Amino acid sequence: MHYTGTIWRPPYEASSLLLEVTAGCTHHSCKFCTLYADLPFKFKMSPLTDIEADLKEAKAQMKLWKNSRISRTFLTGANPFVLKFSRLMEIADLIKKYFPRNKTIGCFSRITDVSLKTDEELSALAAAGFDLLTIGIETGDDEALEFMHKGYLSKDIVTQCSRLDKAGIGYNFFYLTGISGMGKGEQGAKATARICNQLHPQIIGASMLTIYPNSELYKEIQKGNWQEETEIKKYEELKALVKYLEIPVWFGALGASNPISIQGTLPNDKKKVLSVLDKIIESVSEDELRDYRKNLRHL
Ligand code: SF4
Repeated sequence: MHYTGTIWRPPYEASSLLLEVTAGCTHHSCKFCTLYADLPFKFKMSPLTDIEADLKEAKAQMKLWKNSRISRTFLTGANPFVLKFSRLMEIADLIKKYFPRNKTIGCFSRITDVSLKTDEELSALAAAGFDLLTIGIETGDDEALEFMHKGYLSKDIVTQCSRLDKAGIGYNFFYLTGISGMGKGEQGAKATARICNQLHPQIIGASMLTIYPNSELYKEIQKGNWQEETEIKKYEELKALVKYLEIPVWFGALGASNPISIQGTLPNDKKKVLSVLDKIIESVSEDELRDYRKNLRHL
């Protein structure tokens, strides 16, 4: 398989066929991000010949394991949805050719990738199987989005995800706890809940900000331009997010960046999730949480 560098995928794509169609990120300038830093280029598109060769190889492997039940394919790279409509359709056709029982195709997407497609193109992509895109919105806090160079504002999240809703393409969100900085966590969580409450994400997954020395954000901190939230405050921020969310959504803080895993289906599990967060805030010390973060070598 033509896998390039570290392959990132959401936890819930563990049983999907991982198909490389891009590597790296077209944006590559969020200040906190050190993902894809191992690549010698910013972004690359895989040639169709490589994609087809990988599908052939995957099919042969499946036969070997007497398993031909691929029902979902996850396209790898930071934002494969940036690819032109025609290329995404070619990829969907190739997947269908080798895995006719594949039902849906997912990938990471930036908000700006959705804006490059017309409504008609989004509907055609939905019909071709594109569903449950994973979008790292990070926050609905415009001040943080601007400072971190995300390249869009909260109004763009609402506009573009409403277009996905209309086209019938489902989506999940990643939230980045701590992105608003010292003293601003609750404000960021409230702003995020406000935009999520206008949309229909199926999953909101929370990661916690972990600042690595090779990030732009680290340099900003050294210059005195930004201050990190304490670890306990990050949990208070998560509490605010859960408290203000009013939509039915599966919420989870499960990845390595979260020292303690939390999950639940909202609104039914809201009380339970809030009480777990309260317990963490009351019983775990800042030092213990900070030690965990210091020892996180990579996400
Ligand atoms: S956070 Fe996502 S969009 Fe931003 S630079 Fe990293 S991979 Fe690209």
